Parts: sequence; structure tokens; C-alpha cells
Amino acid sequence: MWRIGRVVDLSMRLDGVTPVYPGDPPFSMEPVSAFNREGFVVHRLELSTHAGTHLDAPLHTCCRGLSVDGIPLGNCAGEGLVVDLRGKKAGEPIKREDFSGLEERMSGEAFVLLHTGWSGKGGRPEYFRHPFMEEEACRFLLQRGVRRFGIDAPGLDAPGASPLILHRLIAGHGGIVVENLVNLEQLDFPRPLICCFPLKIGGGDASPVRALALELLPASGSREGGG
Ligand SMILES: [Zn+2]
Repeated sequence: MWRIGRVVDLSMRLDGVTPVYPGDPPFSMEPVSAFNREGFVVHRLELSTHAGTHLDAPLHTCCRGLSVDGIPLGNCAGEGLVVDLRGKKAGEPIKREDFSGLEERMSGEAFVLLHTGWSGKGGRPEYFRHPFMEEEACRFLLQRGVRRFGIDAPGLDAPGASPLILHRLIAGHGGIVVENLVNLEQLDFPRPLICCFPLKIGGGDASPVRALALELLPASGSREGGG
């Protein structure tokens, strides 16, 4: 048996100050029912499918790709592998060499989390001048079998890039990308289980997620590896 130890919330709060990718609609929440009128509360949401911490489905950049309601849910969870890239500066590329020594752990089971430290700049213009991954590094990870990518910045591609080459590459392999993660510095325990499940939006290109890291521990009283 196992039990859940620490739970780390890797998600941004969605509200009027959540960073929005330039050109995307801001998040808003308006009341449609109120206690003093109807006796209950209901709100209407207006938001981009890429609001806050969100998952990009292959459909985002690949017209025949799977939408968020079609991706296998197993693709949205995996063992977190945090790559410390906090030395990177604004607009600096993340290179293949940045993964040296981690090659063996890069696999089809891993949820590769690029920890740039950029989430600390949320709400400031610098947030959108983030480090980005080089195409060669992305191809290397895909060759190793990696299909789950996460970053604590607005994107994996170079700021302002068009087309989104890395997104297309990953989408072409059926992979997913989670952007705008936070709190990656709290993942100081081994083998966190990362879960980033999208809303089941029919035909959705992306969806906000409640991204979590769970620490799985042997249940008290159970013998590890015992029968
Ligand atoms: Zn996105």
C-alpha cells in the first residue's frame, strides 16, 4: 500500500491578474446569480483555453492532432523529472547539453519539467521574455521517448516565435505541453507523481489544469516490497 505524503500545487491562481499570452483574452468571472436575488451563486467565466497553468493538446498546432477530450489521460501524468535551468537568462536557449547526465532518466514515462525560475516574474513584462528550448534539444528528448513537457514560463518556443516549431514537433509525436507552472522549487522529494488533467472540452485545443505533484510513500504499517 501507499499513501499520499506532500502535495505541491503547481498551478497559477486564475483571476483578473493572471498573466495572459499577448493577444489572448484576459480571464474574467461575472456573477449571473447572487445569494440576495436567487439564493445561490453562479458565475460566468470568460477565458482563453490557454489561461494560467494549462495543457496544450496536439490540436493546438497540428490540425489533425488530438483535442483535450481525446488525449489518453495517461499522457497527462508521469514521474516528474525536474531540470534545473535557473541559471538561464531572458531569451537564452535551453540546449541539449543542459540535459547531460540526465539522459538515462529521459524516457516515455518521464514528465520533464523545465525549471527556469521564470514563474517568479509573473505579472511583469519580463515574464514574456523567457528562456526557450532549442529545436535540437527538443528533438533529442523526443528521440529518448519523452512525450510530457512542462515549463514554469509562458512557453517552450522562443518568445514571439511563429510558427511554434517545438509545439508542432511535440504535437507531431502526440505529446503534450504544460505551460505557466509554478512552485517547481518545492519539488525537493524523490520521484514526484505529476498530474495535469485538462477539462473535457469537446474539440478543445488546450485547457486550464490543476497541476499537482504528489509524494507517494509506503503506507504506515506496510512492508515496502512485501507480499
Ligand atoms: Zn498554450
